[in-house]
Amino acid sequence: MPHYDLVILGAGPAGASAAVTARKNGLSVALVDKARFPRAKLCGGLVTGRCAGHLKEVFDLDIDPQLFETRRNFEFYMDGQPLGRLDGVPPAHLTMRWNFDQLLFSRAIAAGAVDYSGQRVETLDLSANRVTLHAGEVLDYGCLIGADGVQSITARAIFGEPFDKTRVGFALEIEGPTVEPDTQTRIRIDFAAADWGYGWSFPKRASTTIGLGGLHARNPEMKARLAAYLDRLGTGQGLKVKGHFLPFGGYRSVPGRGNVLLAGDAAGFVDPITGEGIGHAIQSGRLAAEAAAEALAAGRPERALRLYRPATRPIRTGLRAAILLRPVIFARPLKPFFAATFRNSRSLKREYMHLLSGETEYPRLLLRTAARLPRAGLRWALRGGSRKHSVSG
Ligand SMILES: Cc1cc2nc3c(=O)[nH]c(=O)nc-3n(C[C@H](O)[C@H](O)[C@H](O)COP(=O)(O)OP(=O)(O)OC[C@H]3O[C@@H](n4cnc5c(N)ncnc54)[C@H](O)[C@@H]3O)c2cc1C
Repeated sequence: MPHYDLVILGAGPAGASAAVTARKNGLSVALVDKARFPRAKLCGGLVTGRCAGHLKEVFDLDIDPQLFETRRNFEFYMDGQPLGRLDGVPPAHLTMRWNFDQLLFSRAIAAGAVDYSGQRVETLDLSANRVTLHAGEVLDYGCLIGADGVQSITARAIFGEPFDKTRVGFALEIEGPTVEPDTQTRIRIDFAAADWGYGWSFPKRASTTIGLGGLHARNPEMKARLAAYLDRLGTGQGLKVKGHFLPFGGYRSVPGRGNVLLAGDAAGFVDPITGEGIGHAIQSGRLAAEAAAEALAAGRPERALRLYRPATRPIRTGLRAAILLRPVIFARPLKPFFAATFRNSRSLKREYMHLLSGETEYPRLLLRTAARLPRAGLRWALRGGSRKHSVSG
């Protein structure tokens, strides 16, 4: 039976990042994915400045124009009404996950991770430290990283469920016709196009990625909402619609158990306001591999979670602040306040963009927003609005 210091389940951004980091630390690594790369992954493919920093740090990758289209122009709407435009803001980079994930995966294999792509996991035996693959091969590990996405079988093995159904998000997307974008073409964001969520239109060279995402429990009619959204945009009707869960604010406050660590979507590390998850996936994949390396070097693999959990505190603090802020943006009673404040305040719009670029953090934005809220609204947001959506264990 082959033994690896580290077995990683899932070779998306979190798994590839963990694999590259583990190889830098001299670990033997098996990188398992049920898909062969390149593979499809439903995603807007918006890479923020914050995420670009993690890409550079882990993969030594720059924002290459072959792979990314950079945009500095945004427009915002609510219920079809314009809330304003912003030009020349910190850049956002658009990519296609088919190509992006293939590149990260190939970096992981080039770094020396052993390629187990195209192999579905059949069983996970956490007490025996063994993974059995579909073809029957058994891998023995010192540490395991579950980077296997929102439907994580690793999270299921630890917690009984991959995610909390009451908190998970759901998103629909189409690849619409391209509008021959140039550097002035705007990224469009439609607040409230879904309940506790938003709509987006990301213009790229090959297509326009149009989608709608929000809390699953509050959007039973998501398909009808997407149809209405496409009608509003006047494009994309009749095209193939795909859907995917999104861990939209139900992150794991304890992301693993002993020598088993969860990273990326498997840990629920997705921004509950913007839906951004690629950056947190790369960051948490790196942190998980570093914790595993340190625990293995000490001959105490079971201590990996004790090292990983504090390392992920900044991620979790940011997500918690975003969950507190979320009712101000999404809750119906505060919609008029949010729409008026956002429309009239250039600085708030810029603050939102600085958040995406990684130049400001949620706790700071939370304080600034709270200072603008009427008192009754603040009390409502902190009590009723946020309670139902607090973090999972
Ligand atoms: C519609 C939509 C739009 C989004 N838009 C954006 C965006 O614009 N920007 C952004 O930053 N984030 C966006 N996100 C979130 C982002 O896609 C995720 O946060 C990100 O992909 C998480 O990376 P990951 O590596 O944790 O998981 P994934 O990318 O999901 O990778 C998990 C991997 O695990 C593999 N796997 C799963 N189960 C098994 C198994 N049993 N055995 C073996 N392998 C397995 C899968 O094949 C997959 O390759 C969006 C999400 C959705 C649904």
